[in-house]
Order: sequence, then C-alpha cells, then structure tokens
Amino acid sequence: MVNQLHMRFRSVAENVGLARLSVAHMAARAGFSLSDIEEIKVAVSEAVSNAVIHGYGNRTDGWVAVECSVEGPELTVSVEDWGVGIKDVAEARQPEYSSDPERMGLGFVFMESFMNQVTVRSQVDRGTRVEMSRTFAMQEVLSGDAQ
Ligand code: ATP
Ligand code: MG
Repeated sequence: MVNQLHMRFRSVAENVGLARLSVAHMAARAGFSLSDIEEIKVAVSEAVSNAVIHGYGNRTDGWVAVECSVEGPELTVSVEDWGVGIKDVAEARQPEYSSDPERMGLGFVFMESFMNQVTVRSQVDRGTRVEMSRTFAMQEVLSGDAQ
C-alpha cells in the first residue's frame, strides 16, 4: 500500500497535536502496532515542537510542513520549518544539548531512539528539515501484534 499526506500549518503550539494525530492515523492504517504508534507520535511531537519553539522562537506566523508517506512496511515523516536554522547540527543532536538552559535537550534523543533513521538538514536563517523513517518488523504482523 502507498499513502501520502502533506500538511502545512502555522507555528502554533496546539498544532503539534494535529500533526501527531495525523501521522498516528497513517501509521495505524499502515499496520504499525499500538506501541510503535505511541513512539512515532513522540518523535513527531518532538520535531514539530522544535520547529515552533526553536525554529520560530514561538512566533506564531511561521509555516510548518509535515509530510508523511507509507509504502509497505515503511513510514517516512518529514517536518520542515523556514525559521532560524541550526548552526551546528552535530552539536544540536548531542544528548542533553540545548540552546535553552531551561530545556532538557532530549528531543533528538527521542527521535533517534524511536525511529530507525533520522536525517537533519538545516541552514542558518533558512530553516530546518528533519526526515525520519521507521519500518515495522514482519514478525509483528505474523504474530498479530499489528492492528
Ligand atoms: P527538549 O526537546 O528536551 O525540550 P531541546 O528542544 O532544546 O529540549 P532538542 O529537541 O534535542 O532539545 O534540540 C536540541 C537543540 O537543537 C535545540 O536546543 C535547538 O538549539 C536546536 N534545534 C532543534 N530543532 C530546531 C529547529 N527546528 N530550528 C532551530 N533550532 C533547532
Ligand atoms: Mg526539542
């Protein structure tokens, strides 16, 4: 099965839930298990929150684009913003690194631990695109774990 979703919304914190639910729906239809879906939801929430909080510094007039595609057992989701960008992506991806001393710096850690692959492309003053993918194991389908 092939399915695709393209959405674009304003950088408003409450839209994190919209993105999370939409991707969860795609993942459920694709056959991911409930526990996989919970993890995918966390990864999407972290990426979209980063776009809103860091990309746009909580300004609400930016655009965030979320694309999700499902092909067979693989789900790919990308989250893009046209905000401030990241100067040093390797540093930003370090566990517990945050440019904000009030935050934990764990968003990328969750994305990396819950998805099979995470790619970050960013340019200062241009924006950031995070692409993540996850494939479900065929034995989950055979054992009936997938819904
Ligand atoms: P937490 O996610 O635990 O609340 P955090 O957001 O600071 O804390 P990460 O999500 O791991 O931690 O992100 C690490 C750092 O990468 C951020 O502090 C920020 O400097 C930078 N960053 C992440 N996403 C973006 C983005 N979309 N635009 C600009 N900077 C970003
Ligand atoms: Mg974060």
